[in-house]
Amino acid sequence: MKKLKDLESIGFTMLPRQQIAYGSVGNYKYIAEFLPQQNQFSITTSVVASNKDADGVNFMDSIDKERFPFVNWIRYEDHILTINVKNKHLETENIYEFLQAMSNCLLTNGYVEGCADCKEEKPLHIYTINGNIHLLCQDCFSKQASASQHLEPVHFPLGVVGSLIGSLIGVAVWIILYKLGYVAGITGFIMAVCCFKGFEILGKRLDKKGIWTALIIAIVMLAVAEYISLGLEIHSVFSDYYTISIFDAIRSVPEFLSEKEVMAGVIKDLGFGYAFMAFASFSYVRMVYHQASTAGICEQLDKTIE
Ligand SMILES: [Zn+2]
Repeated sequence: MKKLKDLESIGFTMLPRQQIAYGSVGNYKYIAEFLPQQNQFSITTSVVASNKDADGVNFMDSIDKERFPFVNWIRYEDHILTINVKNKHLETENIYEFLQAMSNCLLTNGYVEGCADCKEEKPLHIYTINGNIHLLCQDCFSKQASASQHLEPVHFPLGVVGSLIGSLIGVAVWIILYKLGYVAGITGFIMAVCCFKGFEILGKRLDKKGIWTALIIAIVMLAVAEYISLGLEIHSVFSDYYTISIFDAIRSVPEFLSEKEVMAGVIKDLGFGYAFMAFASFSYVRMVYHQASTAGICEQLDKTIE
């Protein structure tokens, strides 16, 4: 089995946006997700014990390990059953056979499909709440959805202050590395992360406006860091011969920038810093952007007509 989409051949439905596949085997609804780094599948369902005797079943012991050698582990915690499956040499039919056996095992041990939240035996649906996938009953979904739609408002001015405070860490790192003779691109990354985190901590939450504001602060502050570094460099060179304060040195930076050689060096330093800032913060920006664009979005994903 190569892809999650292959599960469609055993009657599962693929949700490409959420990168999950779901389907019912026996009386149980399963959600499958692929873990690319481990080359494993994670399959979950939500069940409750229909009588007290059912508690304490070791599911891993109750399955036929010779028949299903691809099962890594099975965990039952807080009414959620999680099955971890190795993808190596795995055929889609193997998964189907296993899920049939699993459903039988659940049935014989007295577990029924039930909501992990209210712990009641109820029909379950797949929902997305703020970008996370949940298998819940309709009542619990409604409760969680109405709670999550009251997102905490973003405090924009405080977010900007937080972002500026965060940027000072980036400035300090840039200045220290500059003094040591390095212009490390990683500083561009550190700068961006500090600005985002700063906004999030003081502004309560990072929304789209916050993302772009924090990014602009990061870009400007990297130039400020370079400017200060240049001033400090001028100071350390000239203080051996003249009485010159650090502020005088920093004030003299524009004069030095009119020299072609100095300007070329600055452009090179900053170009390097920004290239790494863009490169390294790309995935971070994408993640935050995804979170921001899914915040407050709550809907049912399995729209099957039953
Ligand atoms: Zn419920």
